[in-house]
Amino acid sequence: MKNCTHRILAVLLALCLSGCSFPGRRETETEEIGGAPVTVTSRNGWCLLEGFAMDTLIRLEYRGKDADAAARDAFLAVTDMEKLWSVTDPESEVSRLNEAGEAELSADTAAVLEKALEACRETDGAFDPVLFRLKEVWGWLDDPHVPDPQSLGKALAASGSGKLSLSGSSARLTDGAGIDLGGIAKGRAAEVLASRAGAYEVDSALLNLGGNIRTLGRKPDGSDWKIGIRDPEDGSSLLGVLTLAGSGCVVTSGAYERSFTEDGVTYGHILNGTTGYPAEGDLVSVSVTGTDAARADALSTALFVMGREKAAAFWAERRDFDMVLLDRDGTVWISAGIESSFSTDRPVQTIQP
Ligand code: ADP
Ligand code: MG
Repeated sequence: MKNCTHRILAVLLALCLSGCSFPGRRETETEEIGGAPVTVTSRNGWCLLEGFAMDTLIRLEYRGKDADAAARDAFLAVTDMEKLWSVTDPESEVSRLNEAGEAELSADTAAVLEKALEACRETDGAFDPVLFRLKEVWGWLDDPHVPDPQSLGKALAASGSGKLSLSGSSARLTDGAGIDLGGIAKGRAAEVLASRAGAYEVDSALLNLGGNIRTLGRKPDGSDWKIGIRDPEDGSSLLGVLTLAGSGCVVTSGAYERSFTEDGVTYGHILNGTTGYPAEGDLVSVSVTGTDAARADALSTALFVMGREKAAAFWAERRDFDMVLLDRDGTVWISAGIESSFSTDRPVQTIQP
């Protein structure tokens, strides 16, 4: 419930910041798309669609002649991806692969899994899509709890990208391993929506998939997008605001998103695939901004696992994305690339290459 409240607050905050003021009368309708109830508010040339999918709030705002059609098509696409990638739906393609140990995948699933493996290689396994048995043993599918050592050992032995082979669309898992795309699915979905928008007459869009933000084009008045990054310790205030000039993304990961407390210890949902335990770095939240929301999603999870120093070194070697890190002492660290586009009231340190 607490998580849910957090997520709703995050989306509300993003809503305020996006400043969706639009003159004139609006039509609001409630309907069902892809089996999920949604609210669609529209006025000529503008459409806002909100609904719940992929276990989170989805808020899609489009501007342009085809705004309505684009928004509905986008939400339907999200529900389609959820049906393919959900680990709680036993009928999903991912669940079937995890159950059978091998499967011929659809093009969409093969593509996201390929992306996930790329991120796994790039981050030296800090991001790993083959941690499903660990997710399961920690009870994240139904009832989160600390597993007994024997079950944890078994789950750890059935985890890691080395247990997956993907050749074109054929996937095979060994040793009872399972895949989980939870750390990249929303980012990938945002990218899929961005490319689908190309089929419509859309001038700009602001896509928010549970706090994973993807912008498309420029705002109609030519001003920059202002994306708020939530303060994880206080859901109603902001850690800072990032300015995006045109198409781009801001994706945030943090243990606070989903956690549980047992015997006074808090355990987060981001796992360290080496220890089998929740990642216990020195970071509270990680936001990544760049051009590809799928990569940003995977990287935000990976950098959280790495901790501040490794994350800084990882960034310095590449510099093809930027990041905002919040550490346990309350200090905000930003990569040098966003020095002029990030504003905050907090103490801030800039990471230089
Ligand atoms: P959120 O889903 O809250 O936006 P993330 O993008 O960080 O946050 O994804 C966390 C999810 O990713 C977990 O719930 C789990 O499904 C999966 N996951 C956890 N640890 C890892 C990891 N080390 N690598 C890849 N995926 C992970
Ligand atoms: Mg992620």
